[in-house]
Amino acid sequence: MLFRSTISGKAGSANEVSFKDAILDCLPPDGGLYIPSKVMDLRQFFLYMNEGITFSELVTTLAPALFDAGLNPVSSSRVAESAFDFEPEIKTLDENISILNLYNGPTGSFKDFGIAFFASVLEEIIRDKGHAMILSAVRGDDGLNLERAFHGRKGLISVMLYPSGPIHGLNPQSYVTNGGNIIPVQVKGNLDDCQALVNETINDRPFSKRHNITSANTINPLRLLPQAFYYLYAYIKIKKILAGDLFFSIPSGNFGNLISALYAWKAGLPVNGFIASMNANNSLGEFLMGGDFKPKPVIATNSPALDVGIPSNLSRLESFRNESPSVMRNMVFPASVGNDETFKAMEEAWKLYGELLDPHAAVALSAARNFLKAEKHRCSHVIVLATGHPAREAAIIRSATGQNVEIPEKLQLLKKDAAPVAIIDSCPDALKSAIASCV
Ligand SMILES: *Cc1c(COP(=O)(O)O)cnc(C)c1O
Repeated sequence: MLFRSTISGKAGSANEVSFKDAILDCLPPDGGLYIPSKVMDLRQFFLYMNEGITFSELVTTLAPALFDAGLNPVSSSRVAESAFDFEPEIKTLDENISILNLYNGPTGSFKDFGIAFFASVLEEIIRDKGHAMILSAVRGDDGLNLERAFHGRKGLISVMLYPSGPIHGLNPQSYVTNGGNIIPVQVKGNLDDCQALVNETINDRPFSKRHNITSANTINPLRLLPQAFYYLYAYIKIKKILAGDLFFSIPSGNFGNLISALYAWKAGLPVNGFIASMNANNSLGEFLMGGDFKPKPVIATNSPALDVGIPSNLSRLESFRNESPSVMRNMVFPASVGNDETFKAMEEAWKLYGELLDPHAAVALSAARNFLKAEKHRCSHVIVLATGHPAREAAIIRSATGQNVEIPEKLQLLKKDAAPVAIIDSCPDALKSAIASCV
């Protein structure tokens, strides 16, 4: 698979880069983001898979085909096995709605899928030649998935940049200073400052070449592509009961999950469309319907992972829209769900189906139910993505349903305070010396 920049790259042009380069050197010099130049049609591989297949088997088979020369079958099976000791889980609620649980990973978030696969591929591709450093900007509560994915992987060091504020979930045993390979650094600033610092440091080419620096943020295309696999997996698991059209409802914040869905469609997923389920932060709605993007101020809601003003995948969406405007208009349906409706959807999911849904999944369920009200969708089936474990939002679920959510042991860490190894000013030199003092 070759990659090109969303800005200056054209399929077949000289500035296409290989799979390995797009992963290891994940920011194109022109300031854009990498996207696949071409997505291979995988139908000949997955249409004949039977519903007993495991997720790891599916990835083992499809990854070499998707990534072409990037990943051979032997590597692919090693990667899938070491990445996925957890699986998506599909539950059919009634003839129109199923829930795809994507929260069975180590930190209870769908992001575990992309990060685990990315870490495993990275270890595989630098196997015989040294080392790489992964620089990522993370929210106070979100570092645990990077720690879980990278801890103990040979040749890899994960540097996490946290904004000011509390940090949760890390185990100091994994820190470089204690013989591990994790370096949590706190930056005096907000998450945007951290992301800017990641980009600046990667763009300092001599420095990033010396340390082989890349990023695990979704600026790296290899974070997003593996997410396409769970759409194909869900289809295989459910195809027997499908009588009409198939849609997915996707809780969307930075739109990485929606981009992955569009890649799954390009790879041949027989699907009729995707509901881009947003909360009150719906500035992308008009853009998806063909209009201009006008950012709006961010509003705090009860589904915080969707509280995004300018989605980091905007340039990938733009590039997709320019390439296939009619697909964007006819297959992507924006929806916006308010706090009250989100609450009501949590309550209904419990009363009607006995399901405890986190508020992000509830946004997607509410959007799906509205979508299904149209007469033409009477026989349609919507797969609602449950992107977060209910235990991550136990308090709000309790107030919506009256139910106590049991917190699995692995997620109890998410509430534990952790300390960074350094606190730095938001500038590249401060970051470089913090890194130098650790490695
Ligand atoms: C990150 C996140 C989202 C948003 O996903 P995007 O790919 O950024 O659109 C949705 N739900 C949960 C629980 C998340 O953590």
